[in-house]
Amino acid sequence: MKNLILLGPPGAGKGTIAKRLAAELGYLHLSTGDILREEVARGSELGKKAKAYMDAGELVPDELILAMVKERVAGKDGILFDGFPRTLAQARGLEEIAPVQLVLLLELDRDTVVRRLSARRVCPQCGALYNLITSPPKEDERCDSCGEKLIQREDDRPEVIARRFQVYMRDSVPLVDYYQGKGILVRLDAARPPGEVYAAALHAIGDDRP
Ligand code: AMP
Repeated sequence: MKNLILLGPPGAGKGTIAKRLAAELGYLHLSTGDILREEVARGSELGKKAKAYMDAGELVPDELILAMVKERVAGKDGILFDGFPRTLAQARGLEEIAPVQLVLLLELDRDTVVRRLSARRVCPQCGALYNLITSPPKEDERCDSCGEKLIQREDDRPEVIARRFQVYMRDSVPLVDYYQGKGILVRLDAARPPGEVYAAALHAIGDDRP
């Protein structure tokens, strides 16, 4: 199976698409943000180092991220990288770790990013993602599958959202040219409804089915 990267600003729908691709096609979903949040929750050494960066909407240092990814990827394929790489240094580091055959760029404008992230809620129990406007839970702010009270991510507060978008523009947008130059970038319009973005992602992936 191919290794894929989902690139795009926060709130573009990377996590939503990744979860569905993993469930339906059997990719291994590797979200560096999810791993870091787990490390923070466990109070591990890595979590302690990462927390301040995450709360401020800044990037965790490349060396920490690359070591964390390397450890989880060794010997595997069919990996769906979500939220990684985020810098050119990470992209170059990834080349030493695993080959990448396709990069899906989820394009979304700043205003829509801010609107989506402000309305985003997550289930602290199972990680399901909701949007109070476009994909609300059936019952008032409770998870459809496990009934837990939904929460807002610490870094989905307005001040932090603005900073995360700036950091994306500065550090991650250069990856667009980088992967385009390698001829493996496919652009998707992430402003469309989730089902349509998913269908476009499937089309781009082609018949890379297990
Ligand atoms: P995410 O869930 O992908 O939005 O990530 C949440 C936060 O975790 C980011 O704002 C960063 O602080 C940190 N983070 C996640 N992935 C990376 C990465 N590849 N490089 C650096 N920091 C990361």
